[in-house]
Amino acid sequence: MTATPPPAIRLDRLRKEFTGTPPVVAVDDVDLDVGQGEFFSMLGPSGSGKTTVLRMIAGFEEPTAGRIELDGEDVTRRQPYDRDVNTVFQDYALFPHMTVADNVEYGLLVKKVSRAERRTRVAEALEQVRLGDHGARRPSQLSGGQRQRVALARALVNRPRVLLLDEPLGALDLKLREQMQVELKAIQRDVGITFLFVTHDQEEALTLSDRIAVFNAGRIEQVGTAREVYESPRTAFVAGFVGTSNLLTGEAARTVVRRDGSFAIRPEKLVVTPVDGTAGAAAPGRPTATGVLEEVVYGGPTTRFVVQLDAGARLTALEQNSGSGSAGAALRRGDRVRLDWDPEHVIDVPETTSK
Ligand code: ADP
Ligand code: MG
Repeated sequence: MTATPPPAIRLDRLRKEFTGTPPVVAVDDVDLDVGQGEFFSMLGPSGSGKTTVLRMIAGFEEPTAGRIELDGEDVTRRQPYDRDVNTVFQDYALFPHMTVADNVEYGLLVKKVSRAERRTRVAEALEQVRLGDHGARRPSQLSGGQRQRVALARALVNRPRVLLLDEPLGALDLKLREQMQVELKAIQRDVGITFLFVTHDQEEALTLSDRIAVFNAGRIEQVGTAREVYESPRTAFVAGFVGTSNLLTGEAARTVVRRDGSFAIRPEKLVVTPVDGTAGAAAPGRPTATGVLEEVVYGGPTTRFVVQLDAGARLTALEQNSGSGSAGAALRRGDRVRLDWDPEHVIDVPETTSK
C-alpha cells in the first residue's frame, strides 16, 4: 500500500495584515492545497492578495497568522533559502555583460556547487527551456521571449520542487505572450515540478492551468479546473471576473428567469435572432427575452452582440462566424432582437460568499 503523497503546497488559514492607517488585510485566512506536479494559478484583480501569498510561500513576507507546508513539512518560520522553492518575477534582471550560461550558473556559484555539477545542471536547465544552443550568447542577442526563458532557466537550475511565478509574462506583448504561454505549459509538463502561477489575466489562467483559485479581496472565492470556474462559477464575482459579466439580478432576473436571485449566462450560450417577422419562434420551452441591439462588434472568428433587454439588463451574446446561417451578418445597431438559450445554461450566482 502506498500512502498518498502530501500536497506540494498547503496553506492553512494563512493571513497577512499590513499595519498602517488604515490597516490592510491583504490575505484573509486562506486555505489551499496544491497537488504535486500541478500547474496551479492564482487569478484575481490587482490588489486581491496574490503576490502577498506568493511572497509568504517564498519566505519574503512573514504571515500574521496561519501555516505554510511544503511537501508536508511546516516551513512557516524558515528562511527563504531554506525552502525548496524558487521565484520567477515579471521584472527579471539578467546580467548584461555575462553570457546566457553564466547567467544561469550564477546562483550555483554563490551556493558553492562544484564546477562539474554546475556544468551538468546549467546544460540541463538550458535544455529544459529549449535554449541548449544559446549558452554562449549575451542577453542582448536574444529576443524578449528567449530572455524570459533564461530567467526561467535560472530558477530551474536550482531544481526546486516548486516554482513560484508572479505574472512572469506581464511585460510581453500579446503575440509573444500567447507564444510563451504554450512554451511555459510544455516546459512545466516536461520538467514535472509544481508551478504556482499568479496572473490577473483570466484567459491566461484558463489556458494554462490544471486548477485555478479565484481571489477577491484577500480571499479565495472558488477553486476548480478552468472548466469548472468558467462553466459553473459559484459567485457573481467569479462569473464576472472569469469571462464576460452577463448577470441578471433583481427585476430583470424575475422577468427573464422567472425566479428571484442573481444569474449568469455565458455569451456563447445565447442565440440572437432578429425580431422582424421573418424569424421563426424559439423552440417551445426555450426561455427568451427581447431587446434592442446596442453594439455589434465584428471580431474575425466571432461577432459580439450587446443587447439592452426590455426587462432591464444588458447581455452580451457571442456568435461564431461560421458562415452557415449566422444571424450576425444581417444585424445592425438599433435592431430589435430576441435572445434565447437552454435553461440549463442559467447559472445561480449568489452575490456574496458565506464564510
Ligand atoms: P495582487 O498581487 O493581487 O495585486 P498584493 O498581494 O500585491 O495583490 O496586495 C494585496 C493588498 O495588500 C493590496 O491592498 C496592497 O496594497 C497591500 N499591500 C501589499 N504589500 C504591502 C506592503 N508591503 N505594505 C502595505 N500594504 C501592502
Ligand atoms: Mg501582484
